[in-house]
Amino acid sequence: MTDLLQQLRTAVGSANVLTEAADTAPYLTDWRKRYHGRAQAVVRPGSTAEVAAVVQACAAAGTPMVPQGGNTGLVGGGTPDERGNSVLLSLQRMNRIRALDPDNDTITVEAGCILQQVQQAARAADRLFPLSLAAEGSATIGGNLATNAGGTQVLRYGNARELTLGLEVVLPDGRVWDGLRGLRKDNTGYDLKQLFIGAEGTLGVITAATLRLHALPRVQRTALAALPSLQAATALLNQARAAASATLTAFEVMSDVCLRSVARELPQQRLPLAPDTAPWFALLELSDPDDEARASALLERLLGAALEEGLAVDAVIAQSLAEAQALWRLRESIPEAQAKAGGNVKHDIALPVSRVAEFVASTNAALAAQFPWIQPVVFGHLGDGNLHYNMQTKPGTPLATAFAHERAINEVVHPAVAARGGSISAEHGLGQLKRAENRRYKSEVELALMRSIKAALDPHGLMNPGKLL
Ligand SMILES: Cc1cc2nc3c(=O)[nH]c(=O)nc-3n(C[C@H](O)[C@H](O)[C@H](O)COP(=O)(O)OP(=O)(O)OC[C@H]3O[C@@H](n4cnc5c(N)ncnc54)[C@H](O)[C@@H]3O)c2cc1C
Repeated sequence: MTDLLQQLRTAVGSANVLTEAADTAPYLTDWRKRYHGRAQAVVRPGSTAEVAAVVQACAAAGTPMVPQGGNTGLVGGGTPDERGNSVLLSLQRMNRIRALDPDNDTITVEAGCILQQVQQAARAADRLFPLSLAAEGSATIGGNLATNAGGTQVLRYGNARELTLGLEVVLPDGRVWDGLRGLRKDNTGYDLKQLFIGAEGTLGVITAATLRLHALPRVQRTALAALPSLQAATALLNQARAAASATLTAFEVMSDVCLRSVARELPQQRLPLAPDTAPWFALLELSDPDDEARASALLERLLGAALEEGLAVDAVIAQSLAEAQALWRLRESIPEAQAKAGGNVKHDIALPVSRVAEFVASTNAALAAQFPWIQPVVFGHLGDGNLHYNMQTKPGTPLATAFAHERAINEVVHPAVAARGGSISAEHGLGQLKRAENRRYKSEVELALMRSIKAALDPHGLMNPGKLL
């Protein structure tokens, strides 16, 4: 046994240092089964002090560390490389809710808390923790913050960054920074927590966070509308914003291809509108503090006007919580249906909302001209200008063809995004998948600033190497 393994066992107990292939395997492959890494060991600390001891031991040995939460990331950020010299640091055992302060509307949780656990703890105190995404039953707060996760409620509540007031971080040399402040105002220098949010574990290990809570809406009304075009979706979004203001809490879009994929791969899902009804569908959610009649009337008026003006061709409004949940399940099943179908070439892009429809029309056409077999599978958070602009193949062409052309497809998609002032990673991060590609779309000045920050915090490059930068 090496000295380092001995020190790790002393720090966290032998049962929490995994070295057998059967035990480490689930940690070494990503959710999409695209990346397969190796590690000296998987270490599962149970407290901040244990994380600090692990990091100190690894730093002294010059051993790279890869933080990991729920391992649901989509860009290979939590998977070590194939050299096998790193230690995978799993935060899953750090899953305690440390404090909930209803008067301050904050909750302080450890990084390994599952997102759903935090939502439930807030709800039990009659509060809302609004971060919500399809992987919420497995993803952890640490992973959510490290990727600055978005999800379905960003339109109203912002992404993980906007929901974070304070952080506790173990730095790459093993020191602990306690920045767990629950303040809305604090102008006492650089806002250090922002460095670690979205850093994908390259600057330190997040061990706890103080998160912002919101009032729990008493009433939620959900509808699915069938739309003739993406332009119509944008127009409907604007009308919904104008009419509902802050009570519009979600506006998601999905193409008919997405619904067909869910129907085919997950036949237990019921589709309230047939995929043939229209080329696009929008899922709208209104959340009202307490007035059911007001929310229902607003949604009916909005959809009635949309049908009259031709912005929608059909619509259903959920009549019960179960029906609303079924509509959300439909939307949230799209990634699972795609994974079951064998995956696709993914693009998680952000654009100004005003340019989304035109981007999709022109990029779909450019791709079809170059790759006649291509089948776009497009869905996402239209309210945030964030599309999952994914590519699979039409029936008759093997899926492998899409993967074989991934680079060429990216050569069409990413410049089109950049030309419209967009981003090649809206909410999933860069990880291993987009690390190199990102260099083409950031200025030298921006890259130099990022490298300076990395060098200042992690001069030996031990924290999640090969990711992001
Ligand atoms: C079905 C599905 C749907 C999804 N939908 C969305 C969505 O709508 N919006 C969205 O934003 N994402 C989405 N994702 C992506 C993913 O769920 C999120 O990125 C999530 O926040 C990752 O959390 P995790 O705990 O699984 O992180 P992991 O996958 O374990 O890690 C992700 C990154 O964070 C780093 N990291 C993890 N924990 C820590 C820590 N404590 N300290 C420092 N670094 C850390 C890792 O090194 C890695 O770089 C989805 C994923 C799936 C599978």
